[in-house]
Amino acid sequence: MISKPKGTLDFLPDDAFKRQHIEKRLREIASLFNYKEIRTPTFEKTELFKRGIGEETDIVSKEMYSFHDSEFTLKPEMTAPVIRSYIENSLYNVAPVTKLYYISNMYRHERPQAGRYREFSQFGAEVIGSNEYIADVELISLGVFFLKSFGLNDLKIKINNIGNLEERAEYIKDLKDYLLKYSVDLSEDSKRRLEKNPLRILDSKNPNDIKILENAPVINEYLGNENKQHFENVLNGLKSLGIDYVTDYKLVRGLDYYTSTTFEIVSDSLGAQNAVLGGGRYDKLIEQLDGKPTPAIGFACGIERLTLVLEASTYEFPEEQSPQLYIVTSGDEARKKAVEISYRLRENGIYCELDLLNRSVKSQMKEANKYKAKYVAVIGEDEIKTNEVKIKRMNDGSESGIKLDEITNYNFN
Ligand code: ATP
Ligand code: MG
Repeated sequence: MISKPKGTLDFLPDDAFKRQHIEKRLREIASLFNYKEIRTPTFEKTELFKRGIGEETDIVSKEMYSFHDSEFTLKPEMTAPVIRSYIENSLYNVAPVTKLYYISNMYRHERPQAGRYREFSQFGAEVIGSNEYIADVELISLGVFFLKSFGLNDLKIKINNIGNLEERAEYIKDLKDYLLKYSVDLSEDSKRRLEKNPLRILDSKNPNDIKILENAPVINEYLGNENKQHFENVLNGLKSLGIDYVTDYKLVRGLDYYTSTTFEIVSDSLGAQNAVLGGGRYDKLIEQLDGKPTPAIGFACGIERLTLVLEASTYEFPEEQSPQLYIVTSGDEARKKAVEISYRLRENGIYCELDLLNRSVKSQMKEANKYKAKYVAVIGEDEIKTNEVKIKRMNDGSESGIKLDEITNYNFN
């Protein structure tokens, strides 16, 4: 037997139905905030991610699915593709501020574990063209609104401001000097990062690293007036919406393109992979990808992780609709008629089902019950002869008759 590739998921009908429900809600909420959907190719030129995300990030250095002599890569994230498309299609000419959302599969060659897959999907949103703090507040509130709409109230919102490139360079210099003093005690990963990407050490989950970091310099003290004010405005904005947050000066996030505001929403019910949603400002990315300097902010939410959180919560997914009518048949003539009737009913928007296996009346009734059909019609030789059929309402057993040819006029509600 050939099995699915490691780290991928099958969505069987029950799971796919849950996913439909989540996506429907996502689209409704994105519309409330006036974000428009964008879809981009499944693969892009590898160069886009190298330049957009940064060569030293986990994604680009070890998680990309590249092919065709590495010319192309299955998208590991959507911000770089969205910005590529924004520039390529001159969306800045359409409106001064562009608000987009996406729901799409992503591909990362990671070690699969709970909440971490090689193919997974993200819902994300981007606001391109505004560096006003209200853009940050609106975008973050969109993510929070969405999660809260499922009754998830015990999520933790972590927020930070990692400064502009100059402020960050100053900080990184001091952070590195500090960490160098403890370099022998750092984890192997962190030792490696000390040279290439010291900021990422702040992300370390290693207990000893965490201890060393306790007294490390914090980025907040390196912010200039502009970013300090921006940070404060964002925090006050969230407060005014009743959104609780915690500031976390170690929150730097894994992608090189972030500047200024960064944030993450975590859930205790997820264990090690606890981030449901993460994002931040990326005011330099657009020029890095050869566009005009344009400020922007976005987030991405892992939909499988969200589903895990929902399954661990008290949230009740809706039940799938049951058929309005199940047509039980007996005999060849009846079956022939039932096929025709069912098609006409469906043309009229009536959800109905019939036996495709030539089974006994008894097992068809059983199936009608299994599907929780609201009504059942039994068609046999008599019904064909008289052109009359009885429709039985299953919740109370009441019956009423109708001409077979007029069955589409019956009120199945
Ligand atoms: P992590 O720290 O968990 O690796 P990340 O920093 O790589 O996350 P982002 O690239 O910011 O995550 O992606 C945003 C969201 O996408 C994450 O918060 C998470 O919910 C989800 N996500 C990221 N990688 C995976 C994966 N391999 N499988 C499932 N969901 C993922
Ligand atoms: Mg990751």
